[in-house]
Amino acid sequence: MKSYDVAVIGSGPGGYVAAIRCAQLGMKTAIIEKYTTLGGTCLNVGCIPSKALLDSSHHYEDAIKHFAEHGIEIPGEVKVNIEQMIARKQSVVDQTTSGIDFLMNKNKIDVYQGLGSFRDATHIDITGTETQTIEAKNTIIATGSKPASLPFISIDKERIITSTEALKLKEIPKHLIVIGGGVIGLELGQVYKRLGSEVSVIEYMDRIIPTMDVSLSKELNKVFKKAKFKMNLSHKVQSVERTRDEVVVKAVNKKGEDVEFIGDYCLVSVGRRPYTDGLNLEAIAVKKDERGRIEVNSQLQTNVSNIYAVGDVVKGAMLAHKASEEAVMVAEIIAGQKPHINYNLIPGVVYTWPEVAAVGKTEEQLKDAGISYKTGQFPMRALGRSRASMDLDGFVKILADATTDEILGVHMIGARAADMIAEAVVAMEYRASAEDISRMSHAHPTFTEALKEAALAATDNIALHI
Ligand code: FAD
Ligand code: NAD
Repeated sequence: MKSYDVAVIGSGPGGYVAAIRCAQLGMKTAIIEKYTTLGGTCLNVGCIPSKALLDSSHHYEDAIKHFAEHGIEIPGEVKVNIEQMIARKQSVVDQTTSGIDFLMNKNKIDVYQGLGSFRDATHIDITGTETQTIEAKNTIIATGSKPASLPFISIDKERIITSTEALKLKEIPKHLIVIGGGVIGLELGQVYKRLGSEVSVIEYMDRIIPTMDVSLSKELNKVFKKAKFKMNLSHKVQSVERTRDEVVVKAVNKKGEDVEFIGDYCLVSVGRRPYTDGLNLEAIAVKKDERGRIEVNSQLQTNVSNIYAVGDVVKGAMLAHKASEEAVMVAEIIAGQKPHINYNLIPGVVYTWPEVAAVGKTEEQLKDAGISYKTGQFPMRALGRSRASMDLDGFVKILADATTDEILGVHMIGARAADMIAEAVVAMEYRASAEDISRMSHAHPTFTEALKEAALAATDNIALHI
């Protein structure tokens, strides 16, 4: 039987990063993955393929809507070849997942393909093409999450689908009904809207992306409505039924009226659930919380001292970079170091266009906590850079402590917000004040000038260009 210092179960951004860091720190490491390729949800059916389709559909939208204004004429009709679009996405996925094979090899990590299951706290059975058992002094569980659903919905994976199927459709839906106006629903809804689908979003709450700052929800909703999405907020879905090629969704709106939606596809995107099936946690009595997440302490250690858990399977934001931060932290803890994660500074991004990005506290959180703050906001449309690229929607909003001027939260919606938020993360990590950012030179013309201007507005209530 092979013995390891660390065994990692699951090879997503939690698992594979944990394995690399453990190996870098000199530990003999194994990784166990039940799927045929490494990389987990993120690389195979999450972050990477969704961004590939967002990029492809964005090019198409630009070609049909904006090229003419730029003075680019395309003779003949611009058409979507969905088969090629999905094939390109898959080749991006394949290149990315094979990059993980390379990294495992480079770091001399033993890869086991099969289902990892605890025999006891130091032995893991692996059921793949052959069944074997390995011994591990420590184990890191990184088994991630799966799409959640509603009790009355039967996902048939053909017409009533999750994000996994939405990433490989063979045709463009005529009418895509999206249940859940969160990150997945809006990103994938936008892909198909751009490709020509009618898209109806049905959201239970009174706003989309409900965990983000209200101002971002409002602005994105406005942009989506302008793009002719049918946005149905405060709707409670009652049933989802399929008859042949049709899906009928019944819901009740906030006035208590019955509403019916008829489409050819229904994407169920109401969140994800932690995944622990098959791990045989009962054998080692690892505790889970009421939401099925593995319980961990601040060191990401379970109630069994040599077993740790990271990523979507534990509490906190279900984000790839959060999983990876936890992965590094656990590896370093096992190696005897004392790492730390500042969860407040894990940014959240929605990769729609305009992109939405945030870090730190929302206005609602500051109000609830009774913290006095001041606000500086700057519209993207006032930037020369925005006019040049015709990306006029959105704004940057900075929330700073009313007394000390320390930045407490940054919320932005606009072109390239996903990349711009990094500046806010760095600033907040070093506990910068709004004035600090306002006095730093930002290259002109860039979208980042909106951050400087919002900082000026937060500091002295005056931006320069508005
Ligand atoms: P996962 O990536 O889910 O990996 C878990 C792995 O464990 C899987 O490969 C699974 O097969 C394996 N496994 C499970 N049980 C066992 C077992 N018993 N034995 C062996 N292997 C097992 N996050 C972002 O930050 N940015 C994004 O842009 C983004 N886009 C997304 C888009 C979509 C459509 C989806 C669905 C998710 C997206 N996410 C995004 C979320 C991101 O994918 C997850 O937060 C991230 O993958 C979590 O990483 P993880 O390592 O915890 O788990
Ligand atoms: P989500 O939590 O982002 O959104 C789910 C939405 O469904 C919420 O708005 C919620 O109010 C709504 N909802 C819940 N029950 C409902 C009901 N009965 N009827 C109507 N609406 C209902 O979840 P998701 O979009 O499924 O994504 C899952 C996870 O994957 C998220 O936690 C997210 O962090 C991660 N993810 C991240 C990215 C990214 O970082 N860009 C992209 C995709 C997914």
